[in-house]
Amino acid sequence: EPITDVDIVAVVEAVLEMSEARFVQDKVEVVWQAPPAPVYVRGGEVRLQQVLVNLISNAIDAMEGSVLRRIEIAVETGDRKARLRVRDTGPGIAAPEKIFEPYYTTKAVGKADGLGLGLSISYGLVQSFGGDIRGRNHPDGGAVFTVELARAGMEK
Ligand code: ADP
Ligand code: MG
Repeated sequence: EPITDVDIVAVVEAVLEMSEARFVQDKVEVVWQAPPAPVYVRGGEVRLQQVLVNLISNAIDAMEGSVLRRIEIAVETGDRKARLRVRDTGPGIAAPEKIFEPYYTTKAVGKADGLGLGLSISYGLVQSFGGDIRGRNHPDGGAVFTVELARAGMEK
């Protein structure tokens, strides 16, 4: 897949649309802070979708035992960079320093999603177009993942 100028806002909207059934099934509220205009970044459209699907899937898994199940998605724009943020109301990340290691998982073996590869693959995908991905715990609870991307036309 080529690296092109991709509207990250459209990527979020496409992924939210394909995830709708799962949000309903798992009773997850999604708050999408859509910017008023497209935000073009350098990347692969399918790879960006995969990364977001992985982040959403992890957020839903993490919130399984939570009373409040909400995912907040936002796109922030800086001068040269754009940031995609995914925040959840789960219990937070137990070992943030390990989550991008291949095969690191806290999920039951045999669970479809429990191979521990989602984030390491996402890391590689984001690196493939020079971006960055980080995960941390929010001071008010839950996990926050940030994907930092170069804005189109702003490469140094
Ligand atoms: P998997 O989902 O198969 O466990 P991932 O690479 O996607 O593998 O995630 C690795 C681990 O990182 C998870 O098992 C979990 O411990 C932690 N993690 C990822 N996302 C979250 C999240 N939103 N909240 C809490 N922990 C998380
Ligand atoms: Mg996963």
